[in-house]
Amino acid sequence: NHHDGGPRRASSQRVGQVKEVTSLTNPIIKDIKALAQKKTRDETRSFLAEGLKLVIDALELGWTIKTLVYAKAAKGKPQVEQVALKTVSHGGLVLEVSEKVLSSITRRDNPQMVVGIFEQRYKNLRDVKPAAGETYVALDRVRDPGNLGTIIRTADAAGASGVILLGETTDPFSLETVRATMGSVFAMPVIRASNAEFIKWHKSSGVRVVATHLAGAVDYRTIDYRSRPVVILMGNEQAGLPDELAKEADALARIPQQGRADSLNLGIATGIMLFEVRRHLLALDGKA
Ligand code: SAM
Repeated sequence: NHHDGGPRRASSQRVGQVKEVTSLTNPIIKDIKALAQKKTRDETRSFLAEGLKLVIDALELGWTIKTLVYAKAAKGKPQVEQVALKTVSHGGLVLEVSEKVLSSITRRDNPQMVVGIFEQRYKNLRDVKPAAGETYVALDRVRDPGNLGTIIRTADAAGASGVILLGETTDPFSLETVRATMGSVFAMPVIRASNAEFIKWHKSSGVRVVATHLAGAVDYRTIDYRSRPVVILMGNEQAGLPDELAKEADALARIPQQGRADSLNLGIATGIMLFEVRRHLLALDGKA
């Protein structure tokens, strides 16, 4: 048990029990704080999510909670107790901590009362078999955590089926990205792939890849988004799409602009595309 700084015996006794922690230098707390670094997240394949509602939603969606941390003030709240019970029954650890400790974990002055540490999940591209009416978003080297989080949230809201991360990207499981997803990180499958894998998959999966490009010749509102599942391919914030990916596209779409701005923010452009691609599938009562 890597969370355990003490002897083995203490570790086995602790499993499934609530442990009180007030010291900032407690080794378990140190391990949790280390999740702020990507290296630690990669090594432990875990991440942190804040907020009681988020944690409840995650458990309902079948995610595994490794450690539940809650503030003393949240003790006794029925929902917190329920989540704690669930955590324990799945072999997880429950920590009751001081607000000072919670602040240090989330690096916030007014932290949420509840924080969960979850196992990361990635879906394999080869397991992605798009069906009619499905939409995916593929992001080329997305850099900004806020953009990625916003896109995951927006993809979820538009009813997309997954977000594909191409090349070196910002970590979808960083605290900043997870915050920006507002819980959608638990609902939206995230897939990692190289450009080569993506190109190969494109040829075999039957999807229409619609790339957005500032040099795109086609108005994004004139494209057929109905006859095949669609992958919206978006370029890097600074560089835009590399030729290698742009030439893969079945269509190069552009969102017409006026005014002084050279381009739209990546998250905004993705949102506009998502709701256009899925326009015929979205309705206020949930049925189109
Ligand atoms: N300097 C970059 C370039 O020249 O491509 C700008 C990149 S823009 C901030 C990030 C991505 O958003 C672009 O690669 C493209 O995918 C999308 N995008 C932004 N504005 C767009 C528009 N008006 N039409 C189509 N795509 C757009």
